[in-house]
Amino acid sequence: MSRIAVLPGDGIGSEVIEQGLRVLSVVAPDLTYEHFDLGADRYLRDGTTLPEDVLQRFRNEFDAVYLGAFGDPRVPNNEHAKEILLGMRFRLDLYINFRPCKLLDDRYCPLRGKGRKEVNFVVFRENTEGMYTGIGGQFKRDSEDEIAIEQEINTRKGVERILRAAFDYARAHGKKRVCMSDKANAMRHGHELWQRVYKLVAKDYPEIQASHLYVDVAAMKMVQTPEAFDVIVTNNLFGDILTDLGSALIGGLGLAASANINPGVAAMFEPVHGSAPDIAGKNLANPLAAMLTASLMLEHLGRKDAAFRVEEAVRRCLEDGAVTRELGGNLGTTAAGDAVLARL
Ligand code: ATP
Repeated sequence: MSRIAVLPGDGIGSEVIEQGLRVLSVVAPDLTYEHFDLGADRYLRDGTTLPEDVLQRFRNEFDAVYLGAFGDPRVPNNEHAKEILLGMRFRLDLYINFRPCKLLDDRYCPLRGKGRKEVNFVVFRENTEGMYTGIGGQFKRDSEDEIAIEQEINTRKGVERILRAAFDYARAHGKKRVCMSDKANAMRHGHELWQRVYKLVAKDYPEIQASHLYVDVAAMKMVQTPEAFDVIVTNNLFGDILTDLGSALIGGLGLAASANINPGVAAMFEPVHGSAPDIAGKNLANPLAAMLTASLMLEHLGRKDAAFRVEEAVRRCLEDGAVTRELGGNLGTTAAGDAVLARL
């Protein structure tokens, strides 16, 4: 029996998580849940973001965290969202950002002549270092001589563990190709480290073809020949960009799922989209990304059959055009949930 911490969050987060939980209740009725009241309302009420004891409970008492989205126009700079999401990412050391780019129905792919056979790869994005640690500074701010420095952090440990995670995934899932992407021709220190460690790690996986592309070329190839990829592994900044490109290839934010994992310690699952305040509360949000995220969570919990059932039901909705408006359908959030349930 697995125990799930649920953080519906803000905006459309709670709307899509509600639909995800409906689906989970059918395919995995024995899962148990505890809901956490965290997000903009709570922050505006009493200033709480992510207390240490709650974080420790995520680590010690739950098998996974299922999260909607954080973000609210009432909170300046979305301070609460940053503290909760980055707090979880850094304090639980969720170093793997895992994003599948699996097209489920050809009509939602924007590439001419490409379909399900061609667009089916996963991205491993390093999630705890790189350009996103906030290390740097500003000097002579607001003057003509102003300087701003943003530093990129690459540790041997951090690079090696994400590379191994990508190869381990490839091995476990019968994927034959891993491609590491960096910009070692222009970023000669940090990315040279990636190159060196990649060559060493690849030796431990002789059955897997290990290739390399500079990130500009990788972006181009993802559009021209997405079939060239099985597993892409890259740093935090490049992964951020390449995964959004990947989301576009499978039909956009309404279909993009993600996992943030520290194997054996903690795992958090969230749809890629944010709180979308423009459509919140209007029954317009597409719940399919939250459902595909639930499918990822089920797979992580070792429930492959249930994970496949959810993905297959979502795929059939896409095939039938039983989808929300941004995908060309006419269903609201709840009706889109009904459509998936009907196909389970
Ligand atoms: P946040 O500040 O929380 O990141 P955001 O609105 O800036 O929110 P997203 O929510 O990621 O960013 O999405 C951008 C736009 O894409 C939204 O404003 C919305 O119009 C659309 N969108 C995102 N997710 C969905 C969804 N699940 N269903 C339908 N439209 C969506």
